[in-house]
Amino acid sequence: LHPRTQLSRESIFAQMSRLAAQHGAINLGQGFPSNPPPDFLLEAARRAIGSVDQYTPPIGLPRLREAVAEDLGVSPEDVIITAGGTEALHALAEALYGPDDEVVMLEPYFDVYIPQARIAGAEPVMVPMQLTERWEVDLPALERAISVRTQAILLTNPYNPTGSVFSRAEAQRIVELARRHDLWIISDEVYDELYFGEPPVRFRELAPERVFTVGSAGKRLEATGWRIGWIVTPPGLAPQVAGMRQWSSFCSAAPLQAAVAEALPIARKEGFYQALRESYGRRKDLLEQGLRSLGLKTFSPAGTYFLTALLPGLEAQTLVREAKVAIIPGSAFYLHNPAPQGLFRLAFCKTSDEIEQALERLGHYL
Ligand code: GLN
Repeated sequence: LHPRTQLSRESIFAQMSRLAAQHGAINLGQGFPSNPPPDFLLEAARRAIGSVDQYTPPIGLPRLREAVAEDLGVSPEDVIITAGGTEALHALAEALYGPDDEVVMLEPYFDVYIPQARIAGAEPVMVPMQLTERWEVDLPALERAISVRTQAILLTNPYNPTGSVFSRAEAQRIVELARRHDLWIISDEVYDELYFGEPPVRFRELAPERVFTVGSAGKRLEATGWRIGWIVTPPGLAPQVAGMRQWSSFCSAAPLQAAVAEALPIARKEGFYQALRESYGRRKDLLEQGLRSLGLKTFSPAGTYFLTALLPGLEAQTLVREAKVAIIPGSAFYLHNPAPQGLFRLAFCKTSDEIEQALERLGHYL
């Protein structure tokens, strides 16, 4: 096997889900909902299977490209449908950088960014976020990390794993940096509809000529296993980026693309995202207040369905076995710099019952 298969080690998310199943633990690790997707999505899929069953164009089913474009207020010409956010990010890594290039990212980072950069031959350059009472991007450090080899800045908004959301001023300064150094911005916005205050800034609106946005039907419509995502490219670049995936998956699952095309306008019209935010907001408060009443320090998220907290002295692999609660260790999100002592990420996209039981188990264990 080629030495690049060193990158095939099991991801922390897969590992913690496997251990959770093995030990009968409550899984507050990998971010996927416990509840089923909404009926309007499932019904659309039932209708599509048996009528939309053959290849779609690699760039995506036209009606889904249009639905995504309509939802985001962009041109359908600039939309590519992918097999989830992960394939979208992989296609961008292949299209944007290669050997000797560098990609600047923040730490803590979402795990797929590093292997994807390396598969493309590029080197990730990490800039740690500052953690005081909240997570903040260190803009001077971000600028210092940029070299003549830098091709892109890769970030998420809302941010996985911290749950933080960039302020408009921070986003503007990041965009200015990218302009000054002529860099692409890859903005992973798969949690775009999951926020608890002001809607997050869309980086594309600040610099459409240099921002690639990644989105996810799995995240928005609570069907993470469907693997339907998208990229919005700067004008004119979609055909070349989409052309790359002809050589791997060719296209995403056709009936599921059709179902998502039908569901996106329904979700918007029926206030599905608003209801989702309210429901997740309640579960966030439940988890956060529970952790605080156990005397633990938490960092309140402004978006995503994750929160970070300090659980000093605990080890995730021991916790899942002994307390039967799975959570993600902060160290999994750091490459070069040390993770803050005792940092963990906990997912609250689970039922209130599961969250309450997990808190009870933690309370007994601590
Ligand atoms: N996005 C999910 C998370 O952060 C997991 C995705 C994955 O397992 N690749 O938990």
